[in-house]
Amino acid sequence: LESGDDLALQRLHALFGFRAFRGVQRNVIDRVLAGQSTLAVMPTGAGKSLTYQLPATMLDGTCIVISPLIALMHDQLRSAEANGIRAATLTSVDENRAETVARLRAGDLDLLYVAPERASQSHFRELLSQCRISLFAIDEAHCVSEWGHDFRPDYRLLRPLMDQFPQLPRLALTATADAHTRADILTQLGIPEEGMIVAGFDRPNIRYAIGTRDGLTQQLRRLLAANPGPGIVYAQTRAATERLAEALSDGKREVRAYHAGLAPDVRAANQSAFVGSEDMVMCATVAFGMGIDKPDVRFVAHAGLPKSIEGYYQETGRAGRDGDPASAHLFWGADDFARARMRVQEVDETRQQGERTRLSALGALVETAGCRRAILLRHFGETPPETCGNCDNCLEPPKALDATVTAQKYLSA
Ligand code: ADP
Ligand code: MG
Repeated sequence: LESGDDLALQRLHALFGFRAFRGVQRNVIDRVLAGQSTLAVMPTGAGKSLTYQLPATMLDGTCIVISPLIALMHDQLRSAEANGIRAATLTSVDENRAETVARLRAGDLDLLYVAPERASQSHFRELLSQCRISLFAIDEAHCVSEWGHDFRPDYRLLRPLMDQFPQLPRLALTATADAHTRADILTQLGIPEEGMIVAGFDRPNIRYAIGTRDGLTQQLRRLLAANPGPGIVYAQTRAATERLAEALSDGKREVRAYHAGLAPDVRAANQSAFVGSEDMVMCATVAFGMGIDKPDVRFVAHAGLPKSIEGYYQETGRAGRDGDPASAHLFWGADDFARARMRVQEVDETRQQGERTRLSALGALVETAGCRRAILLRHFGETPPETCGNCDNCLEPPKALDATVTAQKYLSA
């Protein structure tokens, strides 16, 4: 419907103040408005909330939002209300439950946030059957899958509830994109395969470069010389972060270390110095960066192999959040793979296959002569163009494969 299209855009501006939809938001919203169940896999920060909040204001009735954490729910509630959306939470800590139920019955709510365990309560099911419901939105939908990283058995109670309302669309949302988990979410929540939308993982302003370690300190010094802006160097161990910080300090540019073993006041001081700096380099373990909002990080370097492609994506994703050019550099060695393989042997047998798969995906990424971005995006289920024009291999195609160091050799042994 043409006019419907315009309505969504008008609402976007009127409610949220945004001029345009981002990425696949529009596709997701159009499906929901057409009553089609959907699984949207979009990275953190891509704007998943809006894909149910906006339809909730356009559809007749209340959208039931399932969210795993009360704190998360209250955050969402505040931001929805700030945008003029009629919303409430129904949780054990809310003292105004009677009022919320009354508003639900009166059709005075666009959104009702509940925890998954409520779905199993028969009086809640009965309540819903007496009200006008428009849509089920399942946030953090990977919690429904044992394959996911955060399985919540209560999420399994959602299917029986939703099956009582077969005519209502379901919108499942997650940033966790592993193929197994996605297939499982579809099955567990009763969403058709063609209802899956995966997108938004590309970070076009990040230039990826991956090479072998060969005099790491010198390599990093050259990197720092070529990249004057703020940067993060990820090292494998706490000791390595301190060693590198010392080796890279040249008296001009500030280089500090960050890891969980530092005294809390030192850690806090280093972090806030970094956030306020225009050229500081932080040598850190992967603990650094979570929850740090610094949009102008210009480069991220890995001094060794990351844990997984997901980890690499997350860590490199801390560069260039402002959209300006940024770069990601990974220095790996065959010994990284040897060590990783040893670790795989130490884990629980049930997890070994998964760990092996993770490791060989990393092997493919570091060893490819083709586009790095294509490998990343395919890993997350997107269909990339053949070449991206902004990774080492696309900018300078390798002449011949380096046969002296091969990760695959270590993987197959
Ligand atoms: P997610 O749940 O996918 O991690 P959120 O829904 O929390 O992401 O949204 C992240 C941020 O993006 C929010 O500040 C939100 O207001 C903003 N945002 C969402 N959609 C748009 C848009 N179309 N244009 C601009 N900003 C947007
Ligand atoms: Mg979210």
